[in-house]
Amino acid sequence: MKNRLRILFLSSEVAPFTKTGGLADVSSALPKALFDMGHDVRVLTPKYGSISDRKYILREVIRLKKIPIQMGGKEHITSAKSAFIPDAKVQIYFLEYKPFFGHQDLYVDSQTGKDFPNNAERFMLFSRAVLETIKLLVWQPQIIHCNDWQTAMIPYLLKNEFKDDPFFAKTATVLSIHNLAFQGSFDPKVTTKLGLPEEAAKPGSDLEIYEKINFLKAGILNANIITTVSPTYADEIQDDPELGAGLGEILRQRRQDIYGILNGVDQTVWNPEKDSYLENKYDSTNLDGKIENKKILLKKSKLPFDESVPVIGIISRLTDQKGFDLIAEAIDKIIKLNVQLVVLGMGDSKYQKLFKDISKKHPQNVAVFLRFDEELAHLIEAGSDIFLMPSRYEPCGLNQMYSLKYGTVPVVRKTGGLADTIVDFIEDPNKGNGFSFEAYESGAMLQAIKKAVDTFKDQKTWQKLIKRGMRQDFSWHVAADKYVKLYSKLESNKRKK
Ligand code: ADP
Repeated sequence: MKNRLRILFLSSEVAPFTKTGGLADVSSALPKALFDMGHDVRVLTPKYGSISDRKYILREVIRLKKIPIQMGGKEHITSAKSAFIPDAKVQIYFLEYKPFFGHQDLYVDSQTGKDFPNNAERFMLFSRAVLETIKLLVWQPQIIHCNDWQTAMIPYLLKNEFKDDPFFAKTATVLSIHNLAFQGSFDPKVTTKLGLPEEAAKPGSDLEIYEKINFLKAGILNANIITTVSPTYADEIQDDPELGAGLGEILRQRRQDIYGILNGVDQTVWNPEKDSYLENKYDSTNLDGKIENKKILLKKSKLPFDESVPVIGIISRLTDQKGFDLIAEAIDKIIKLNVQLVVLGMGDSKYQKLFKDISKKHPQNVAVFLRFDEELAHLIEAGSDIFLMPSRYEPCGLNQMYSLKYGTVPVVRKTGGLADTIVDFIEDPNKGNGFSFEAYESGAMLQAIKKAVDTFKDQKTWQKLIKRGMRQDFSWHVAADKYVKLYSKLESNKRKK
């Protein structure tokens, strides 16, 4: 292959090894798509305590058995193991350092419900160890693709501490922002512990903002290219002060270098024709399996089955971002529309309580599962009629695209990636694939749900609508192609220099 690129993809979560949200899905699907296009792509991620060596056949790599990292006057002896992403040929390395990554949890200690107090050191050590690992492998990536704050210090390190290191002389960086609300913001007191000089945290430096050090800010200012996971979100974070989350001005400084690329759907994982979690497979030419899945879902949810009652599914992290306060306000009116609601979620205790209370109040209509459950997530996508995402903001959102694939009609708030993927069926009956609302108000959401429920009653129209969604192409190759164009642009810029 003529333009075969060496790409190092860094992420703090990679499905199916670890997952708290969409980042994990992207971190396995995009490398797989890049590999399929013929590129030499390798992934590097922390080895958390929850990742089984045996299940995923992790192998020792002799030259990576001891990777000493000096940081803040201490030596940390890390190591790395290698494996493949399941059912793919993409090589993935796991950086092991038990004192920092030995827990089952990724960022929040489930014992305390709080972020690990040493998160800055954990991910700075990971970043330093990444650079050391590829040196030991003598594998020089042309592109290092970083994701979110956890790996955002790499572009900063390359432009500062490592700027004269010949090994990285030809390496360019891409930083993808999957959610600007998470920035890796820490007390500046920690700066020297990260192996950085005290001046790194002085006011107005690349790292400092609002009297804290901020990994994402440093990444935004130092990466060669910045991407976000949908075009609308790329604009919103620069132009809408609330969504800019304090970094709007910093982002605007890089306006020329920010690109929005919509995520895709990994069809080896999310495809009702082949879904290994489903007893009943189906496709757009025969939806009988979908009804069977609805029966199984309702049985599991201890709710009565009635074909004429639409089931609304929700699968989500339970946080302020996702718009559950609108559901809290409107729940009684939603139930009056004669619907059933199945919720799968994990997160903030106030929303766990909210949904528990709702299910107690409406036991005939509402079932709530407060856990992380991949299998049930697939069953909810397959067995629901409608999927609800009333997000306050949504960088991309994957479930609305999974829903389309599964013939489950999305009802969404028109923001970020939801605005880029869902067209309201009433506004545009020829192209519509779901229902949407604009104002962040429970009344507007209720109207959108009502439009969906009314359309559901007209089964002929409904079938047409769901088949249209199922036939839409959200394959990762479209997105991967766009990333490669950006990588190639960086390559040709380097040659011009
Ligand atoms: P975010 O990254 O903001 O959480 P996305 O829509 O991009 O939102 O991705 C969420 C991913 O996490 C989807 O694959 C969804 O199915 C999954 N998910 C979220 N919560 C759960 C849960 N409790 N159990 C299983 N899967 C979940």
